[in-house]
Amino acid sequence: MDSVELYRQLLGLTAIWTVEQVELDMAKKHVEVHVGHPGGQRFACPECGRELGYL
Ligand SMILES: [Zn+2]
Repeated sequence: MDSVELYRQLLGLTAIWTVEQVELDMAKKHVEVHVGHPGGQRFACPECGRELGYL
């Protein structure tokens, strides 16, 4: 498993999300994970599953 896949699983990201960048600062014990999604993608409401508008 590469680090991108590792962060995807740690964050519980669904397939739509891609990890674009990971910044790891060991000195500050700080991790920044930048995620993105393809343009024109519809998202379902996490509570009722209804599709929401384009983002
Ligand atoms: Zn809803």
